[in-house]
Amino acid sequence: MNVVILSGGVGGARFVRGVVEVAGAAATTVIGNVGDDVEVLGLHVSPDLDSILYALAGLADEQRGWGRSEETWHALETVGALDGEDWFALGDRDLGLHLVRTEALRGGEPLSGITARLADALGVAVQLLPATDDRLRTWLETPAGEFPFQEWFVARGHRDEVDAVRFEGEETARPAPGVPEAIDGADLILLAPSNPYVSVGPILAVRELRDAVARRRVPCVAVSPLIGGRAVKGPADRMLVRLAGGTSPRHVAGCYPGLIDALVVDEADADDLEGLGEVRPIVTRTLMTDADARRRLAEVALGAVPA
Ligand code: GDP
Ligand code: CA
Repeated sequence: MNVVILSGGVGGARFVRGVVEVAGAAATTVIGNVGDDVEVLGLHVSPDLDSILYALAGLADEQRGWGRSEETWHALETVGALDGEDWFALGDRDLGLHLVRTEALRGGEPLSGITARLADALGVAVQLLPATDDRLRTWLETPAGEFPFQEWFVARGHRDEVDAVRFEGEETARPAPGVPEAIDGADLILLAPSNPYVSVGPILAVRELRDAVARRRVPCVAVSPLIGGRAVKGPADRMLVRLAGGTSPRHVAGCYPGLIDALVVDEADADDLEGLGEVRPIVTRTLMTDADARRRLAEVALGAVPA
């Protein structure tokens, strides 16, 4: 069975790990968000692709919830002491990866190429593809003005309410090599419990990629990132209230019109399954507290494919 997962960073990576543990690395292709990518200190950082790489390589810091374990911050401290740009936290170990990626990109290698090499070097057997090799950047329109993703999310701590999301480059972005083929060859497509607007949204903003999902002949199953109408972490719930009018399963499903056949929702949201239309609800516990919980959630999502 071939499984394709569309995933953002930390929340998505947890789910991806569960799916890989259940379905196997060889059966799994992950399509990652690049709308969060940022150039900082001259380096190209792809935070969502790296969260997935670190999670699958067993290098992620589970306590902090992002970045690498056993991280140190000497380089960043030096940057700060020298009045450099230190608003975006880059650990010493993490920096090493950004150096290698940035050099490759400057040498003309596409993001998909260097991502595959990084995965290989880290012993990650899963196929990890950026949604696009082209420049695609998420912008947030807020009452305080329009901000690039990381300025809104990190520098301003996503405190500004979002009135609209825009993807710079979406008109011309082409899917990275292998992306349409992976979707067309999938037996099951999964949307990770990532932020629908700023994690899965930028992936689906790549038109040919979205078209491939829309024309699928296999089930596409999304996992809701909300539990009891609240995001486990981050601004997804506030964004849904403001942009979709609520945080019920139907509001989450409404982010993926015509693109999903089922929505995995938490037991805490099972009392409000009205308005889902053609989308079949699958109720289970969705909090990935530990390895068992994330594998159970993966099994439920994978179970949506007819045998
Ligand atoms: P980011 O790119 O690092 O911000 O991460 P994602 O967009 O992939 O994931 C963020 C989303 O994951 C948030 O909206 C959280 O509510 C959701 N999330 C995190 N952990 C869990 C979990 O254990 N279960 C569910 N259902 N959602 C989760
Ligand atoms: Ca992200």
